[in-house]
Amino acid sequence: MPAFVDTSPPGVCIFCKLVAGEIPAAVVYEDDLVIAFMDIGQVNPGHVLVATKRHAQDLLALTADECARVMQVAHLVAAAVHEAFAPSGLTLLQANGHDGGQTVFHFHMHVVPRHADDGVHLSWPRKEPAGALLQDYAERIRAALTQEQA
Ligand SMILES: [Zn+2]
Repeated sequence: MPAFVDTSPPGVCIFCKLVAGEIPAAVVYEDDLVIAFMDIGQVNPGHVLVATKRHAQDLLALTADECARVMQVAHLVAAAVHEAFAPSGLTLLQANGHDGGQTVFHFHMHVVPRHADDGVHLSWPRKEPAGALLQDYAERIRAALTQEQA
């Protein structure tokens, strides 16, 4: 099945309409910063999306408070999904940008209950670079972190 791609302009995207109550949604949690609702795609029963209420395109557009709240609510929802559906596993998935697999360009995190042989696959091609190259990658990120914190 081809992935759903929301091409609406920012501010009138499908999740903004959902937050505004303009389209129906099966909401499971809502507070001042985030909303959690059933994914209409339901990879497995109990598949929930945790989204920001504010239109933020992706992870990098979130505030620190929104980041923290999204993870707190994902944790809360994961526990409830575990209680309600008793999956043998659970995957959190958060995609950014077209090449990152994002299809609705309004920040959201998937809480996906998992079962053995449920047909969900994540390709993970390991590269295993040499130690010196790994240290170089780390140094580039440490330098960028220093700039972020300045
Ligand atoms: Zn939006």
